[in-house]
Amino acid sequence: MKIIPIKIRVTLWYTLLMLAILAICLVFVILTGRSAVVSTTENTVKSVVNEAAAELEYDNGSLVPEDDLGYYYKSVYLYYTDLTSGESFGKLPQAFEDSAVSFKDAELQELTSGQTTWLVYDSLVTVFGYGQVQVRGVSDREGSYTALSVLVKLFIIFVPILVFITAVGGFFITAGAFRPVKRITATAKSISGGKDLSRRINLGKGRDEIFTLANTFDTMFDRLELAFQNEKQFTADASHELRTPTTVIISQCEYALEGERDKAELSAALESIQKQAKKMSALISQLLTLSRADRGNEKLSFELVNLSELFEMVSEELYDLAAEKNITVSAEFEPDLLLRGDQTMLIRMLMNLSENAVKYGRDGGSVRLTLKREQAGIVGHVIDDGIGIDAQHLPKIWERFYQADPSRSVSGNGLGLSMVKWIAEAHGGSVSVKSEPGKGSDFSFIFPSGTE
Ligand code: ADP
Repeated sequence: MKIIPIKIRVTLWYTLLMLAILAICLVFVILTGRSAVVSTTENTVKSVVNEAAAELEYDNGSLVPEDDLGYYYKSVYLYYTDLTSGESFGKLPQAFEDSAVSFKDAELQELTSGQTTWLVYDSLVTVFGYGQVQVRGVSDREGSYTALSVLVKLFIIFVPILVFITAVGGFFITAGAFRPVKRITATAKSISGGKDLSRRINLGKGRDEIFTLANTFDTMFDRLELAFQNEKQFTADASHELRTPTTVIISQCEYALEGERDKAELSAALESIQKQAKKMSALISQLLTLSRADRGNEKLSFELVNLSELFEMVSEELYDLAAEKNITVSAEFEPDLLLRGDQTMLIRMLMNLSENAVKYGRDGGSVRLTLKREQAGIVGHVIDDGIGIDAQHLPKIWERFYQADPSRSVSGNGLGLSMVKWIAEAHGGSVSVKSEPGKGSDFSFIFPSGTE
């Protein structure tokens, strides 16, 4: 079946509706107008005849009808028959056959002859000092319909013009309103069909619903493009991060396999391979967690955990690493701070922050770990006096694979802090950092009251 465009459907609908309403109005006007006309004509004939009868006088030997009325008043012909002398005077319509309607006092009669219907009203009056006179009033009923028929004719002429103007005007307004929809469709098609994610509808500023829709689409396209770019960047970064250990593993294997190698050389090669494989494995598991988190199916198993104990454990793990750089680790943990959370993830968060403090800490410097309950919730700090972070990098360090200075990140891949952020937020908390280059950094996290 052929689909009728919306603009035609809308135009057709209200045009027909308007026609129907006008037709109902017309019928209503005709019906009510007709009965109103009928009753006014009847009343007019009666009142003119009654007035003529009342005003009739006998003066100076002759009958004197009312001057103002004459023999034709308000479309009513007046005709008098003097019963004393048998004479008649007055006026009757030409086509009216007077003898066809017998005289009936105070009674309204009708006579139809040809196209015309006559309304006849008689009154028998006794003129003081003279005798009886018959007064007859005749009016053409159809003539009274003239005004009504003019109205109907006007209706019939103007309705089509009005409907035409409404239909054409409405059509253009609807078509104009729907024009942007074409643009939206074309843009959406070209985005979904081609590879150009940078295309936008760009309808500009407008206040109607279509403009709002177009602007919403543009915002959605912006986000899609950004998501797509992030995805591309993520894949490129991930491949890049995996390429280095893979290259090392391949070259170590080639080295070990070519020629005769003694046991020491072989175990050195294997150790190097193991180190790179561990690095890859850690990277892969981080990538997996992050991509599951993105898809929303990284299931966290929440239980009541003792955050103080977890932090304690992490700090103990840190001593060996810190000792390599002569860094003193000091810890101040308020005991038994409980939180509902995923133990493995929380350890990972605390570990990443603490390891970074050592990794980017100053040789012979110090790292301070604190955890306490404050009014806002459980607050922890990981403070170092190391290289610090330049202000320009600060907002970006939470992004995946972002490294402020890759040459100084000995064993990093730039995923640690994005994991930290995700874990904190997945527990209803947040992380933040204050840092000054050359002086050190203070990473803090907070789990607000209520998330505990
Ligand atoms: P990486 O694996 O490189 O450590 P992270 O996501 O943990 O990745 O950190 C991102 C970047 O933030 C690091 O490359 C580093 O430049 C900076 N950074 C993180 N922690 C610290 C810190 N305590 N002091 C100075 N810079 C830091």
